[in-house]
Amino acid sequence: MQISTDNLRFEIDENGGNAGFIQSGHEAEAVRGSDFWRLILDDGLRTEIPVRSSKQQGKATVKDGVLTVRYDKLVSDYGDSYDITFSVAVTAEDGLLRFVPTLKNGAADVRINECFCPLCDFETLGGDKASDALYLPNGLGRRVENPWAHLESLTGNYYSHDTTEIFIHLHYPRASMGWFGIESGNRFLYVARYDPEMRHCFMTIRQRIHHTPLDLMVGFDHFPMAHTGEELTLPPVVIGMLDGDWRCAARRYRAWADKNFFKVQPKAEWVQNMTGWQRIIMRSQYGEDYYTAKDLPRIYEEGAKCGIHTLFLFAWWREGMDRAYPIYKEPFAGAFDELKKNIQKVQDMGGRVILECNCHFLDPQGDYYKQYGDEVKLLDINGNEVRPAFAYPGMGEFRITYGAKQFPLCCAGTERWREQLMAQMRQLRSLEADCLFADCYGGTPYQPCFNHRHEHGLRIDEEWIYHRKFFDKAVEYCKEENRVFAVEVVTDIAAAYTQFIHGLVNVDFKVKSDAFPALFRYTFPEVITTERGIRSEEGDFDRQLRCALVSGMRLDAELYVCRADLGASPKYAAETKRYTDIQTEYAEFLLRGRFTVLDTSALPYYIKRGEYYSEDGTKVLRILYNAAQETTETVCGVALRPDEMRFDIFDRDKYEKELNQQ
Ligand SMILES: [Zn+2]
Repeated sequence: MQISTDNLRFEIDENGGNAGFIQSGHEAEAVRGSDFWRLILDDGLRTEIPVRSSKQQGKATVKDGVLTVRYDKLVSDYGDSYDITFSVAVTAEDGLLRFVPTLKNGAADVRINECFCPLCDFETLGGDKASDALYLPNGLGRRVENPWAHLESLTGNYYSHDTTEIFIHLHYPRASMGWFGIESGNRFLYVARYDPEMRHCFMTIRQRIHHTPLDLMVGFDHFPMAHTGEELTLPPVVIGMLDGDWRCAARRYRAWADKNFFKVQPKAEWVQNMTGWQRIIMRSQYGEDYYTAKDLPRIYEEGAKCGIHTLFLFAWWREGMDRAYPIYKEPFAGAFDELKKNIQKVQDMGGRVILECNCHFLDPQGDYYKQYGDEVKLLDINGNEVRPAFAYPGMGEFRITYGAKQFPLCCAGTERWREQLMAQMRQLRSLEADCLFADCYGGTPYQPCFNHRHEHGLRIDEEWIYHRKFFDKAVEYCKEENRVFAVEVVTDIAAAYTQFIHGLVNVDFKVKSDAFPALFRYTFPEVITTERGIRSEEGDFDRQLRCALVSGMRLDAELYVCRADLGASPKYAAETKRYTDIQTEYAEFLLRGRFTVLDTSALPYYIKRGEYYSEDGTKVLRILYNAAQETTETVCGVALRPDEMRFDIFDRDKYEKELNQQ
């Protein structure tokens, strides 16, 4: 029995055995009989009981274009039989195979924690394995060459796998998009979850260890956490072998996003033209004042000299950075009035001010935690409070080693927390900030919530349904108040609500890196985002900045991890000036135009290329940068000296036509 698309079909025997994903032209190399789904059960004592499709007796039927594989009971790897009804519906839709699992847990005392579906096992994707490339939405994107060998290289990490398989995975939505894939020859294996509710999941890539030939199992791991008596249908996952490169997949995902959740938020003119910002902590975790409100006009001037006209302020409240959340009190009587006046002074000088508040953390020493902590806090799968911490050293050694301030995490699944966040938005507004900034809140920086008293109940994967209720209100409020709403952590779902997004730490522009920012930039070119992590004038910071500029990033001047302004670092300031001068000179492309990828010809390792449509769509700007320290390279017929950037503007039609002829 089978369901077919152009280049890929799913086949299975009538009894549910011998499942396989068959690529046209590569029938003989198809893997048969691997698991195409798995469940992980939990009876409290044995917390990861595997159930594999390859070891079940099922019944496959095809009716009206739907292949249904149904199981009336399941048997685990340990030989126990469970009263769990499971079925997978497979259809072909728009050239893709679409998998929808349904489960009903009739077994006493066991929870269905995870559902891998589909898992698609391949030993080849048709191309030369060494030239295959995995594209992952980690940060703005990663491109991993030869993923077969990459996973094999992890085999030695004995403690991080189960002695049978190794895996890498990404949590979505923490990953920036809900799709990934592998380029092989002139085809692209596209894997995506089409869930408008953005339920939490892993995108997973697994490999059998010590197995020849090397395989890759790609798929999604859903988190049903289905208790006895529950019946659930999980979101659809699609898989297809597309003709073309990664851009075909990006366009497919974008088309789905446009139909299901994405909208481009109109942007304030100052946001559209924002070259970057100085990101500043005013009071440290140790109560030390790096800056007070009266310093703001001077800090603004330091930035303005370098073409930076925005301030991004943290820790403007009494206790200082990462303390007292979610209560923001004034440092002394009249301090907020002084802050407001100085923000207005900066605005009178032509500047803009972003004020930050945290949207995810509680201070366990604070009154709010004592009063409402149990109601709003997130619990993990073991029922424990989760307490991450950020450690910033002060002058002492004890606190940085043993005393980092911990933060219990909050869940959007309570009205109280969402109202608290709205109160924070109003407080930022009352201080006359141009932008109300929700920190840690564009993705899911930590983990799903098992506090079943929350509105998501037992559905630990449904936090975004509630998260978006806050986003809706914040967007509406900012519109009414003529303010800008923005967040941290780049995800496509957050991009649908915000005017810009500050990148998270996995955004990197190192010269040597597998970072592939074009993945997100090409899929969602309207999204304004930043570089991050270039914190001082040490090392090759200047070349990292130029790599970020190639990708059209707005500059995040976070000197000494936000402890200093541009006046403290003449070399960094000079590079900032150079960066913003280029942004200004090519503003119709870099600030108001549209990132794209037209030329996909291979580049020498150190060469970076960026392409942009002009605001009016008639021209193309091509940036080439040789990030090497010593080697001159010739690319696209142009010789580039070490550390040379080159900017060329072309007529769009002519540029595209010439590329098509190559
Ligand atoms: Zn919750």
